[in-house]
Amino acid sequence: MWYELPELNGIKKDLGENDCLYLDFGHGGKDTGCIFYDGSYEKDYVLKFGLAVYKLVKPYFKKVHLTRDTNKTVELKDRTKAMKELGEKYNTVQAYSFHCNAYNKSIHGAEALLSINTNKTDHEFIFWTKFLKDYCSKFDITNRGIKQRKSSNGKQDLYYLHRNTPAAVHVQYLELFFGDNRQDCKKGQSAAYFNKAVFMVAAYILKRYGKTIHRPVEAAKYLYKVQTGAFTVEANAQKLKEDLKSKGFDTYIIRTKIWMWMLLWWPTRRRSFCPCKGFFFMCKSFLKEYVFYIWQRIDYPIY
Ligand SMILES: [Zn+2]
Repeated sequence: MWYELPELNGIKKDLGENDCLYLDFGHGGKDTGCIFYDGSYEKDYVLKFGLAVYKLVKPYFKKVHLTRDTNKTVELKDRTKAMKELGEKYNTVQAYSFHCNAYNKSIHGAEALLSINTNKTDHEFIFWTKFLKDYCSKFDITNRGIKQRKSSNGKQDLYYLHRNTPAAVHVQYLELFFGDNRQDCKKGQSAAYFNKAVFMVAAYILKRYGKTIHRPVEAAKYLYKVQTGAFTVEANAQKLKEDLKSKGFDTYIIRTKIWMWMLLWWPTRRRSFCPCKGFFFMCKSFLKEYVFYIWQRIDYPIY
C-alpha cells in the first residue's frame, strides 16, 4: 500500500522522543457513539480506523498507547486517568481521539476539536489547519475547520477529555465525517476512502515526529539478464556494442574475470613408474576425467 501525499512536506517536526503518542478510539462496548446512515455504529468504525492507523505508526515508536483495541467499554474517567499518568512521565502526551459526527443527517464534513487553551500559534493548531485543508480537498469533504467549544458557563472546555486532562496532555479530536449523512457515510464506508484516509492520518501524525512512511521495497528473488555475446578480445565486444547501439539497444560491456581457484586431479590407475609416462597419463586423466575446478566470476560494467 502506497499513496502519494504531495503536501505532506508542509508538516513540520515539532515532537521528539519524549513526546508520547496516544491513540484514543472513541466510545466502545455499551457506548455505541452515533449511528451511521447505514445503521452501523461509530464505535466499530473508529476502532477499525484507529487500529489501522496504529498498525502503520507502531513500527516507528517504542510504545504507542491505546485506549482500547477491542469493542469494550472504557469510561471517560479511565481514559483521562491513563493520559494523566503518561503526562507525568513524558514532556507531552499527544492524544488523537478518532470520532465520526452526527447531527440531523443534512450536516456533512470533517472537523478537529481542540481545547480552548490552544492558541492559533500553537503547533497543534497549525497542524490541524494544514491536515484539514489537505484531507478535505483530497476526499472532497466539507472542511468545517477547528472547533474550540466552551461549556455553558463560558469558562471551561465543553469536551470531557479537554476539561479533565492536565496541560501536558494535548487531546485532539478528529471528527472524520458525519456518519449519519448519506453522502459522508457512503464515502466513509468505501475501501478507497478508508485505506487512503488511514494512510494519510498515519503519515501526518508521523511527520510531526520527523518520521516518514517509506515506500515498501519489493524484494526480488531473481535477476534476469539478457546477453548477446562474450569475447576474449575486447575489440570484438566493442564492435558488437556499437552494432547494438546503432539498432537502438541500450548496451554496456561487462568485464568478467575468471579465477581458477583450484585444480584437482586424482589418477585412479597407476600406469607406470616411469616419470615421463606417468606425467603423460596424469595430463590425459586431467583432461578427460579427473578435473574438478571451481571458478568464480566477478562482473562489473566497464563502458
Ligand atoms: Zn464520537
